[in-house]
Amino acid sequence: MELEKLRSEMDKDRSLPLKTNLVFGEGNPDCDVFFVGEAPGFNEDQEKRPFVGRAGQLLRKSIRELGWKEGDVYITNIVKRRPPENRDPLPEEIEKYHPYLTRQIEIISPKVIVPLGRFSMNYFLPSAKITRDQGKLFKAGNYFIFPMLHPAAALRGNSAMEMYLETFKKLLSALLKASGGNAEVIETAQKKQKIEDVQSKLF
Ligand code: URA
Repeated sequence: MELEKLRSEMDKDRSLPLKTNLVFGEGNPDCDVFFVGEAPGFNEDQEKRPFVGRAGQLLRKSIRELGWKEGDVYITNIVKRRPPENRDPLPEEIEKYHPYLTRQIEIISPKVIVPLGRFSMNYFLPSAKITRDQGKLFKAGNYFIFPMLHPAAALRGNSAMEMYLETFKKLLSALLKASGGNAEVIETAQKKQKIEDVQSKLF
């Protein structure tokens, strides 16, 4: 399968910076929603899975609260190895991992890309500002982009948490807008929520 091929190419590519474990990403390769954080942390490196620490637990819970299963979406990072001491990824690291992320997105071809946090948002939308633009739906090239606060930022403060949770609820209607109303995950979610209610409240 194409994603497996990409993963093994990355594994063998000695030119990629950072020598920790490869945390490629996980989820449904036919998904509509593609979450992308900045880089794995300690727990992610240990488990070789994205978003499995505290911030990850919040992200995964928020996904389930929309009525989706974690496996209905795809979760990954821009930089796919842990930077030392969890520092921010360097521009040259982002640059080197960039072609792989591009191919991963092309293979999955999601209806909406959800960058989590400023770093990831600016990768797709270089001039966007996180507090101003999180929760808005953008079109960049072939893809719709719906930036959100990083769940780790939400865990740091009450108002950030409120903003994060409010925006998460809007994801359903953003997806509906981006897909012209026929995304598969929406059908799943409709079992739990009345989409018209969500839509009229949020847009
Ligand atoms: N933060 C991220 O940006 N990515 C992870 O995978 C975990 C924490």
